[in-house]
Amino acid sequence: MIQLYIPLNFLGVLYREIKQSLTDLDKMFVLMDREREVADAPAATALALQGAPDVVFDHVSFAYESDRPILQDISFTIPAGKTVAVVGPSGSGKSTLARLMFRFYDVQQGNICIAGQDIRQVTQSSVRRALGIVPQDTVLFNDTVAYNIAYGQPGASQSQIEEAARAARIHDFIASTPKAYQTSVGERGLKLSGGEKQRVAIARTLLKNPPILVFDEATSALDSANERAIQAELASVAQNKTTLVIAHRLSTVVDAHEILVMESGRIIERGNHAALLAQQGRYASMWSMQQNAEVSHSSVATSSAT
Ligand code: ATP
Repeated sequence: MIQLYIPLNFLGVLYREIKQSLTDLDKMFVLMDREREVADAPAATALALQGAPDVVFDHVSFAYESDRPILQDISFTIPAGKTVAVVGPSGSGKSTLARLMFRFYDVQQGNICIAGQDIRQVTQSSVRRALGIVPQDTVLFNDTVAYNIAYGQPGASQSQIEEAARAARIHDFIASTPKAYQTSVGERGLKLSGGEKQRVAIARTLLKNPPILVFDEATSALDSANERAIQAELASVAQNKTTLVIAHRLSTVVDAHEILVMESGRIIERGNHAALLAQQGRYASMWSMQQNAEVSHSSVATSSAT
């Protein structure tokens, strides 16, 4: 029995090792692909910033695969410290704008400048340090909530972590759990709701305190109280930061400096909320559809409550 067990056990270890090295290889190929995709220019220096910078997309065109253009001739400016929102149907290219800002890919035409510097001419690491993202789906590590908030800012003190959590309105919830900031979260720990996870992401971003922010709004429907809360959090995080909001609910974009309406990789309408409503075009009809949906939703809720 022992004789049989040892080889099987050995095979198990071997299998795990091979599997692990394959996973590492996979990761390496992904990294190599990225490296091939974008590389620092030989004389690249760090992005030079003083406070919140402006971000300019100038006649940008981009395709993931050469035969399928995704973004076509996109130009817009996010002035320093202001918010620009992007709306449009699924697949219209909204998240691609964010990926290009992080320089996960290089544009094929045009350029993207941060504080007047073409992001292809500065180091990728300095670009990524300047940017923070609050993603739709936050990845939580199987670790404590404190670790998860401090991720990206190792060495943050407990009081800094708590300050960020308070600003993201997740502190009271964390404090109410038995082990507070030492509570394990993630797959094997406390399960957090989508909204709570997004608040952890907001706290994480507040702690990193980047001058440029990308807020990828969750697609999941929220009740109006939660929606108002998230909007208030967004407003507090975005204060004095140059922000791109990828929005799925138009109520989030009402106060944006400019709203870009995208369709099939092009900007088909642009302006602030009032100007877009006055145009009575695509945005105006999206707005009235959402308003009607909300009215019918709340009348269903009222009639089912009575
Ligand atoms: P959603 O609102 O659903 O998030 P989106 O407007 O953000 O959509 P993008 O994610 O920017 O859309 O995608 C734009 C197009 O690019 C889609 O047709 C998508 O299939 C394609 N695409 C996205 N990522 C890749 C990729 N890595 N390789 C090839 N095509 C891709």
